[in-house]
Amino acid sequence: MDSVRPKDYPPGSTLGRYQLRRIIGRGSTSTVWLAWDPGAQREVAIKCIDPDVLNDRTRGKMHRNLLINEASLADKLQHPHIVPIHDAVVGDDEAWIVMEYVAGGTLDAHTQRPFLLPVERIVELMFKCTRALDYACQLGITHRDIKPANILLTRDGDIKLSDFGAAMFTANQRTQVEGVGSPAYMSPQQVREMPLNHQTDIYSLGVVLYQLLAGELPFQASNNYSLVYQIIHVEPPPPSVHRPGLPPALDAVVARAMHKDIALRYANWTEFTHDLAQAFRNRRLRPRDEDSDVAEHFRLLRTLSFFTDFSDVELWEVARFARLERVAAGTLLMKDGEQGDHLYVIAEGDVSVSKFGRTLTILTAGECCGEMSIVARDQKLRANDVHSNTDSLLFVIDGERIRRASETCRMRFYEVFLQVLASRLSSANARLADSWGQGA
Ligand code: ATP
Repeated sequence: MDSVRPKDYPPGSTLGRYQLRRIIGRGSTSTVWLAWDPGAQREVAIKCIDPDVLNDRTRGKMHRNLLINEASLADKLQHPHIVPIHDAVVGDDEAWIVMEYVAGGTLDAHTQRPFLLPVERIVELMFKCTRALDYACQLGITHRDIKPANILLTRDGDIKLSDFGAAMFTANQRTQVEGVGSPAYMSPQQVREMPLNHQTDIYSLGVVLYQLLAGELPFQASNNYSLVYQIIHVEPPPPSVHRPGLPPALDAVVARAMHKDIALRYANWTEFTHDLAQAFRNRRLRPRDEDSDVAEHFRLLRTLSFFTDFSDVELWEVARFARLERVAAGTLLMKDGEQGDHLYVIAEGDVSVSKFGRTLTILTAGECCGEMSIVARDQKLRANDVHSNTDSLLFVIDGERIRRASETCRMRFYEVFLQVLASRLSSANARLADSWGQGA
């Protein structure tokens, strides 16, 4: 073979006996061609590892191993929902694998609005994935790189799983190829480089299900460090937060598939399949009241300036512990000198803050009162009276819940408190300066 980069082959070139027609996709390390197999008289897809990868000592070795691994599984993995492998060539200068051409694109095209699929269709596709992965699991094979780009769609709307290069035999962890997987879909065990079994695929398929339903990944992160932290420590908001009206049963399926603790995650594919089938049957059930309350809190909190800098994940946490109270005009919310360890964030209406009968300020939607007692270390005494001037809607947030919140959520509250205290201090100084001016 000459030294032309695979992705630069002019259409019409040949690779082995295959006639290359056009490029149909690119991965981070490979180019996928549509080609014609004259022997079998059919179209095929050929994935060629890029030459710069092959020429790199470490990456080249790893990617040759991935291809050899994938080719070696070809005979074993014969399933209607797994892409069949026909042929492979792995040498010093070239490495490519020939597989069935699957013409309908990948599920990656349906992970964002406005391209999301109907819920029934998502459940059906995920159901098929669980069947294919159960089959692989029965053979002792864990895929380890489940993501939408590896779930191909056929012309008639069926699915086929691809890219078993990173797969390993669960019973023999020494055969696994290291350093593979796509961070956003990795399980907590995978990011921690712990021993893996099929439950890592269950987690990854949970992330795929989440993304197809919600149109968002469960964790938003600007770098890998933050992503890994969230995968290990943070509970994502359920998909229904992003796509209201989803049946609670599907939120529950996602939560169980993505459980950080493998003892509480689906133990096997049969359980996962069973719950998807149930969710499908119960699709028309109304959301539970508690779920809709939290989703409603989330939507309302998102409109308030107090929470502007909170991420969706942090806000979802707040939505679960904040209580919403409606109070009539003239209600005494806090009394000067009394004990109190909760904060109000005003959602609607306005309240006045006064001292010795003198109004200090009027607070409106998005503003808070009571934050001093949350930050005070010992004495949690109120320093002012606070009344509602109008019928008002208030979020009540207990100090204890803030102190027990995740670190990022807690820091977010303290950042806002700092801004609030700074701006109140500056208005107090202005008032003081005013009163001195008047006295002079
Ligand atoms: P990476 O491997 O870099 O993480 P990836 O899985 O998207 O990313 P590839 O496996 O190289 O990379 O595939 C690239 C694209 O080629 C796929 O997203 C898909 O669009 C297309 N493709 C892969 N295999 C086939 C196939 N058998 N039939 C049709 N198209 C395919």
